[in-house]
This record gives sequence, C-alpha cells and structure tokens, in this order.
Amino acid sequence: MDAATHREWIDQTTLQALAAHADRADADTDFPMASWELVRGAGVPAWSVPIEFGGLGLSASERLHGYEQLAGACLTTTFLLSQRDAAVRRVLSHGQPAVCAAFLPRLARDELFLTVGLSQLTTSRQHQAPSLAAAPRDGGYVLEGVIPWVTGAARADAVLVGATLDDGLQVLMLMPRDRAGVEIDAPMDLCALRGSQTTQIHCRGVRIEREDVLAGPAPRVLGAAAGGLDTSCLALGLAGAAIDHLHGEASVRPDLRPVAERFESARQSYRRQMYSLADGQVEPADATDLRIRANELALHSTQAALTVSKGAGFVRPHPAQRWARQALFFLVWSCPRPAAEGMLAHLLPDGDGEPACG
Ligand SMILES: Cc1cc2nc3c(=O)[nH]c(=O)nc-3n(C[C@H](O)[C@H](O)[C@H](O)COP(=O)(O)OP(=O)(O)OC[C@H]3O[C@@H](n4cnc5c(N)ncnc54)[C@H](O)[C@@H]3O)c2cc1C
Repeated sequence: MDAATHREWIDQTTLQALAAHADRADADTDFPMASWELVRGAGVPAWSVPIEFGGLGLSASERLHGYEQLAGACLTTTFLLSQRDAAVRRVLSHGQPAVCAAFLPRLARDELFLTVGLSQLTTSRQHQAPSLAAAPRDGGYVLEGVIPWVTGAARADAVLVGATLDDGLQVLMLMPRDRAGVEIDAPMDLCALRGSQTTQIHCRGVRIEREDVLAGPAPRVLGAAAGGLDTSCLALGLAGAAIDHLHGEASVRPDLRPVAERFESARQSYRRQMYSLADGQVEPADATDLRIRANELALHSTQAALTVSKGAGFVRPHPAQRWARQALFFLVWSCPRPAAEGMLAHLLPDGDGEPACG
C-alpha cells in the first residue's frame, strides 16, 4: 500500500500546532502537556486499541502512516506515544481477558498512561548480570534492581516491565508506579527529546501480584521479533520534515532542487518498503535493512537541512538544529545488534583512509 492511499486520521491544523510546540517539547524536561492535549484531542490514543475495546482499531499501515506524520511534526510527542502504544500492544497480546477489559477502554480514552521498561531484556546491559531480577513469591514476584530506561516514567500509571529469574527465564509484568519500593529518578539530561522524561526506575523489593503477571517465565519472553517497524517509521517521519524543508529552500534556490529530489526519491522508496513489510509478514532481515536505511536517511537529510540553513539553522528555535540532534536518537534507540552493526558498517570511511591520488 502506498502512503498516498491511506485515509488521513489527523488534520493539518493539529500537525501545524504540534510543530509549533516541538522545540519546547524537545528542550524542556516537563511533560509536553500542550502537545499531548493536541494528540488526545485528535483521538490518537484510540488508534492502537481495537474497536471491541472502544478504540479505532487502525491497521498497522494506517497507524504507521499517522505516526510518520506526527513524527514529522513533533518527534518528542510521537516517541512518548510509541512507548505507550508498545505497552498497549503487549497488554493486547499477553493480557488475560480481565486485564484487557480493565485497561484497554481507558487507554483508548487516554484516562490511563502506560509505558514500557523492557530494554534490560533486549538491548541494554546485555554484557552484565541482569539489571532487574525477579524472585517468585506467593504466586507473584519480588523485583530488585534497576529498569535503566523508561520514557514517560513519572506520568505512567503503570510500567510494563521485563525481569529475569535466577535460572535465566524471563517474566513480563505490569508494575504500578505507586507500588511500594518503586523509585523514579529525575528525567535524564538528554541531548534531545527531553520532554520524553526518560529516566531510570529503581525497584527495591517491589511486590508484583499474580494478576499483574502478563507472560512467562519463558526463555525469551518478548519473542524473537522484539523490535518492530515503529522505530523506522519515526525515523522516516523526522527525515520527512527535513526533506520538506529542503523542498521549501529549493523552491527559491534552484541549485538545491536535485538535492531535494534525491532525498525525496529515497524517502518514497523506504516508505514503500515499510508499508509492504507492514502489510505482510515482517521478516527480521528486511526490517533490519529498512531500519538501517531509515536511520541513514534521518541522519543525512537532517544534516543536509542544517547545511542549507547555514548558521541561521544552528540557532534555536530554527528546526534544522533540532532535527539534526534528534536524528542521533535513532543511533541508540531500540537498536538491536544487527541494526547497530549495519549502521557501523555504513559509518566507516571508504577505503583505507588514505587520500586518493589524482
Ligand atoms: C532517550 C531514550 C529513551 C529510551 N526509552 C526507552 C523506553 O521507554 N523503554 C525501553 O525499554 N527502553 C528505552 N530506551 C532504551 C534503548 O532502546 C536502548 O536499550 C538503549 O539505548 C541501550 O543503551 P545502553 O546505554 O543501555 O546500552 P548498554 O549496552 O548497556 O551500554 C552501556 C555502556 O556499556 C558499555 N558496553 C556496552 N556493551 C559492552 C560490552 N559488550 N562489553 C563491555 N562494555 C560494554 C559501553 O560503554 C556502553 O556505553 C531508551 C533509550 C534512549 C536513549
């Protein structure tokens, strides 16, 4: 399916208002409430919730189309949304009927905010002893340790977390934020997306009741394909904002037209790749290839936008400086080993580093 054939679930006025707040959402460590209110007013929290639970039940490609537009307007808000939606998907796929009935209608109405703290099972601290340990207790568990990365932690009513047992098996559970022993650090001093309020959570003897456990114990409780297309989609959305800016500059600087057109052609090609992956089975190798290309496009297009914006683009609140900083995020966010290795290979200089002889 082509992006052009998707129904529009969000209007241009909302996108423009989001873009107008994007610099503040990126720079302040407060939760970007004004931006979130725009997203809520547009009904976006209902996109990922199925119709039977009061949501809109958008298909994967419809949701990606909306995400791409939102990410182009405000990456910080869209990132918060993506972490919330990752939790929604886990509740849907693992939750017992009673859990789904209790959570999903309220998530569709945005009366509840969930987020995820899962990277300690996948991409964070894999070279150390498990960062978050679970010990069985009375049919539930007791948690000890650190959840190293949680976006929107202070606002979350509960965090979907993964922990490791003594024998290496993993469990997935819902940890209420107000449970005794949960200590949330202040937001990290991030170089971009500061309104995401990303931080660590310390767990000191936190009790998880039997009904809070969603899945496990299992060897790889998140399954083989822990990653998805959302990361690539957000990278394409950010690249899209930079490429639109290049088109704008090219309309008054004809020498820039070939540059804008070349980026546009890559953007359309990766979009087609994303939607064909969304409409069929996501093969890990193809999804990794898209991820590397989307990362590279985000990095290169935002730097091209900064280059043509010159010094003026380096001064806040010009968006070019923000886009270029935000693009760095895709080098580290949810970047499994094959994607990180692919990125490194693309970043290597050509040849042996010696200047070519003329
Ligand atoms: C802004 C932001 C928001 C995020 N939000 C979330 C979220 O909401 N939920 C979530 O689950 N995750 C989230 N993540 C986590 C993300 O997906 C990755 O898991 C994370 O970026 C991995 O980085 P790390 O520093 O934890 O990696 P690590 O692998 O733990 O690396 C940390 C350091 O350890 C050293 N090191 C790494 N590997 C080795 C090795 N093999 N041997 C020796 N030393 C080594 C390096 O010095 C490295 O700098 C977020 C990340 C960022 C940056």
